[in-house]
Amino acid sequence: MTKLIQTLRSTCISKQTLLTVFSTLVVSLGALLSGLQVEAYFSGEIRNLEQGQRRSSLSDRRSFVMARHSAAPDDFPSFECAIMPFGFVPHWGNMLSAQDLQRNFCSIDPGEFVPIPTYDIATLTRPMDELNRVQRTDAVSNAITAKLFYSTRFMGSYDLDSAEFSNPQHPAMDFKMPFGTPIRAVAGGIVHALQKQQNGLGNLVIIEHRLPDTQERVFSIYGHMDMRLVGTGESVEAGQVIGTVGNSGRSTNPHLHLQIDKDRGHEFHTPYTASANTTRDDVLKWTMHPMDFINTF
Ligand SMILES: [Zn+2]
Repeated sequence: MTKLIQTLRSTCISKQTLLTVFSTLVVSLGALLSGLQVEAYFSGEIRNLEQGQRRSSLSDRRSFVMARHSAAPDDFPSFECAIMPFGFVPHWGNMLSAQDLQRNFCSIDPGEFVPIPTYDIATLTRPMDELNRVQRTDAVSNAITAKLFYSTRFMGSYDLDSAEFSNPQHPAMDFKMPFGTPIRAVAGGIVHALQKQQNGLGNLVIIEHRLPDTQERVFSIYGHMDMRLVGTGESVEAGQVIGTVGNSGRSTNPHLHLQIDKDRGHEFHTPYTASANTTRDDVLKWTMHPMDFINTF
């Protein structure tokens, strides 16, 4: 009997101990959870910020569009002139190691940049194999720099030797540039939308422009960005930095996807996408060749 009481007591004690241990656990678990909550709070905060941004951008955009519809065309920011999204390009043809080619913008010496090469299909389609075999003269280095910079030509296949119009599924151009390179608006306009696609174009900025003379609406779209440095509704000038080169969305290397869309008549424009059976003519109906856009306006 005594033994039983003792057992009970010890059980009781151990129950108490257990209770203490349990409550301690609860407290520490609570502390742990609140610690986690702090983190969750922060990431939630970022999410909320993004959602808030999305919500406010939607209402901003709505009031904007309303204001714009009633406004005279002159109120829309000036188009100025169309320019390249970059001022200089790393001299890729002078970089011989993979490490050198993969450096971030800040790790590349200013002396390693050269002016933007001419978009010349004859140079761009010179086989890479041949350029790698021959002696690396200045002309060869320049050709390699151009090929890498214009890494995917307008509606081109993802192949450094491919020409234009070999892949209607890509209604844009890709520019190989180092991660973190500032991206400039190709013309004056208003930031129409920011998007964050999980796949597709990743972090992207859409700027609405009004073409000189005709006032036709066109949209420049900048995909796979790292940072977006403008807000929806913001007026931008040609050449203004709007974000940095990244590798977001469906992308295997840092680059800028530049697409110029024509107006499909939607209040809120979304980037034109091509399907498996889209033809070159379909793409030309709703997009513009970015180099034609830049050279024409
Ligand atoms: Zn692309």
